[in-house]
Amino acid sequence: MTVQQRRRVTVVGAGIVGLATALTLQAEGHTVTLIDPREPGTATSFGNAGAIVTGGVVPTATPGLWRRVPNMLMDRTGPLRIRWSYLPRLAPWLIRFLAAGRAERAQAISAEIATLTGQCLEAHHRLARMADAMAVLKPVGWLKVYRDQPAFGGTAYDRGLMDRAGVRYEVLDADALRQLEPGLSRDFTIGLFQPDASFVSTPYDLSRAYLRAFLARGGAVVGEEVTGFTFEDGRPSGVVTDHGTHPVEVLVIAAGAWSRRLARQLGHPAPLDTERGYHLNLSWGDNGPVLNRPTVIGGPQFVLCPMADGIRLTAGVEFAGLDADPDFRRIRGLVPLAQQALPGLSGEVTREWMGFRPSTPDSKPVIGPSRRHRDVYFAFGHGHMGLSLSAITGRLIADLIGGREPAVPLAPFAVDRF
Ligand SMILES: Cc1cc2nc3c(=O)[nH]c(=O)nc-3n(C[C@H](O)[C@H](O)[C@H](O)COP(=O)(O)OP(=O)(O)OC[C@H]3O[C@@H](n4cnc5c(N)ncnc54)[C@H](O)[C@@H]3O)c2cc1C
Repeated sequence: MTVQQRRRVTVVGAGIVGLATALTLQAEGHTVTLIDPREPGTATSFGNAGAIVTGGVVPTATPGLWRRVPNMLMDRTGPLRIRWSYLPRLAPWLIRFLAAGRAERAQAISAEIATLTGQCLEAHHRLARMADAMAVLKPVGWLKVYRDQPAFGGTAYDRGLMDRAGVRYEVLDADALRQLEPGLSRDFTIGLFQPDASFVSTPYDLSRAYLRAFLARGGAVVGEEVTGFTFEDGRPSGVVTDHGTHPVEVLVIAAGAWSRRLARQLGHPAPLDTERGYHLNLSWGDNGPVLNRPTVIGGPQFVLCPMADGIRLTAGVEFAGLDADPDFRRIRGLVPLAQQALPGLSGEVTREWMGFRPSTPDSKPVIGPSRRHRDVYFAFGHGHMGLSLSAITGRLIADLIGGREPAVPLAPFAVDRF
């Protein structure tokens, strides 16, 4: 890279997306500053299920979903909740979301997401090698389990999309499932296994590893909250924070679920909302159960993950915005079901957590440049897939800032596509 191509880049937001982007840019010789009032990696990126889902090509909105929504909302332990007071604010997003679930649209979205998932693990490997963190990525795959054929039959649509995208998967019978996960209840007789997926048994460790590598290469972190921007000649010249104003040359907005306000201030009113999600950490106990990989329990739709500090039970999509208090009643109600699924699982909760998935209505992240302002880029809206897609997002933003053709066509992820 020539000296002229080295830029001063300010990345707003130090979740896994901002960290991966900052490290990738730093490694290419740019001078990078991360701005975030929180400790890096401690917001949504802290508490996820740790899965790098290379085959995660099924959008959240799929055909017929709208018909299933009323039942989901009635079910006390069901996967979906809406705080009714939030519905008026959510309505425009929801209408777009349901429209994205039309058959043709969902199929096109899936193919577009696959352009990212196809490269997402390799992108993490590049960063993890740089950060001396390859051991953090465990190649154990991604498993979903079902009690019987009718329950498994519900995955036909997903398998169709996976086939189209060329995702490798295996359908496991009861014996094969037992060999893979001997600790699971024998009630599960069918498994859907994606062997190429990877797992981070402490997501925060990956964030910390990327942060350490970033700092070791001379990166800077500023612990301030960005509240706005200054403009000169119509383009952003500075970020305004709760502590003052910092001049900017190149700006990347990677503030997760909080990016909507910042994007709007830059003239891009992207329809970003949040699908809040919960986890409970259950202690391993002295004679804890065996669980080798993150496992989705089909039916009630929760995930059990063998984390370093316990079995993490993650579940739920709750629409209630960024400000409402968490409501742990539903996830607490899942503990007995989790204990049935994984006999011997302790009911001792060592942590209750809620995070804010940054979600667009079409399940695709926003990755790309502003069309209004030169040197302004967006990297947010990764929804259910932010851990998986963080490193490839960083790669793509670095391609753009470095003046290269991006490794993936970016039109489907443009901020103005909605
Ligand atoms: C229960 C659950 C399970 C999940 N499981 C998985 C999984 O297995 N695999 C997967 O790929 N994904 C998973 N996800 C999704 C994934 O966790 C998110 O997509 C990802 O963490 C988003 O990362 P981010 O960096 O965009 O946001 P965050 O981690 O939320 O970081 C955003 C950062 O921006 C900062 N910020 C906000 N506003 C400002 C401001 N004004 N100025 C400066 N900084 C600001 C915040 O302080 C924060 O640190 C899961 C999510 C949940 C909730």
